[in-house]
Amino acid sequence: MRAFVIVDMQNDFMPGGALGVPQADQLIPIINRLIPQFSLVVATQDWHPSNHVSFAANHQGKKTGERIRVEGEEQILWPVHCVRNTEGAALVEGLQKSQIACAFFKGTDEMIDSYSAFFDNAHLKSTGLGEYLKTHGVDEVVIAGVATDYCVLYSVLDALQLGFRVVVVTDACLAINVEPDDDKRAFAAMQAKGAKLLLSSQV
Ligand SMILES: [Zn+2]
Repeated sequence: MRAFVIVDMQNDFMPGGALGVPQADQLIPIINRLIPQFSLVVATQDWHPSNHVSFAANHQGKKTGERIRVEGEEQILWPVHCVRNTEGAALVEGLQKSQIACAFFKGTDEMIDSYSAFFDNAHLKSTGLGEYLKTHGVDEVVIAGVATDYCVLYSVLDALQLGFRVVVVTDACLAINVEPDDDKRAFAAMQAKGAKLLLSSQV
């Protein structure tokens, strides 16, 4: 049984959003074409409290892109984004939502960030997604969304570690690319750990 996991297709990650991923709106029709191919579709949403540790604005004198250490973990500072229950945190308009069975929220704890759809960055708390997929008999996870070099990457690595077979739909993912070619390195890292990279036409 396979499931489709749509990562963070939220307004703030779209072009013009608080943390816009270039051209991410162009993923919407690709993802919409994939959705009907699955009997189980779930979505993730970055879902922060306004005092979240990942927001540069919450650290006096710090700027977006700076790195700090929080309880031993490196934290990159981002602009304020995906504050829970705001329009920016909502799933993007145009996404075919009627077939999305469940949304899983991440980054909900003020003191720790969560790139992965499965666990926070320190692997302390589960979002419930792994348990949900196993309860539903899922053994293969197909992943698409944003951003390739953060939330998609860490979701894929955790899914593999949890024992799922993982397919990444490369043309249904886009990256932030803080450094040039972060996306290429991310795809290579996923593949090296056992993920299969496919185009949407091959899924
Ligand atoms: Zn976030």
